Amino acid sequence: MKVHCLGTTGYHPNDHRHTSCYFLPADGIVLDAGSGMFRLPPLIATDRLDILLSHAHLDHVIGLTYLHDILYTRPVQKVVVWGEAAKLKAVQEHLFHELIFPAPIKVVWEPIDDRKQIKIGVGGAVTAAWQHQQHPGGSVAYRLHWRKTNKTLVYATDTSGDLSPPSLQWMKGADLLMHECYFRDDAKQWAIKTGHSWTTRAAEVARDADVSRLVLTHINPLATGPDPVDLNLATSIFKNTQVASDGDVIEF
Ligand SMILES: [Zn+2]
Ligand SMILES: [Zn+2]
Repeated sequence: MKVHCLGTTGYHPNDHRHTSCYFLPADGIVLDAGSGMFRLPPLIATDRLDILLSHAHLDHVIGLTYLHDILYTRPVQKVVVWGEAAKLKAVQEHLFHELIFPAPIKVVWEPIDDRKQIKIGVGGAVTAAWQHQQHPGGSVAYRLHWRKTNKTLVYATDTSGDLSPPSLQWMKGADLLMHECYFRDDAKQWAIKTGHSWTTRAAEVARDADVSRLVLTHINPLATGPDPVDLNLATSIFKNTQVASDGDVIEF
């Protein structure tokens, strides 16, 4: 399984990172549609794309407006956009308002609200479950499972980091946890205030959910130095941790 990191920051892009977008080419699965989505075309390997939205904040949906160029460069037969009904409605009404972006996109909008899990990817090979997260306006985490290989990926972004037993149980034993870490510990108060995670919290989630590997995402765009999250601190809590960068390909 390969995850291509197309955009690894939140809020706004910087010189090295675009906003949240991750791609699994073999299954045509896109995790969030941030500004990094413009990087999709050369990687597309299927005739269907399933785009899973964590929520509708701009840094996670702006890339939907790039689909005209993406699909002009690399046409596919079907694009499905999954998310909570209220978020899909907000995107359709506001992001695609004729005064904001006057060219509608040809996608199928699929609300997840009434479904405990959905089948996505080519031939429905991947099962995706979701759970609510604490974040302004709410967001959802996704748990992807591949029947064939019995691999599990949890994508949890725009969350203050949930250490409750039900949430940890839901993430339990994932082969890969992609968890946001917008702030370092010294800005923990900002993390709590804005519904984001800090280094210790993200590492604790990985440790307590007993996952195999943690990749930190949604890195603060103002943290442009070589060590945006204090990686030593993270690895002192959960050893198998890395920080995602644009262009990374994570194999699991
Ligand atoms: Zn965000
Ligand atoms: Zn957000």
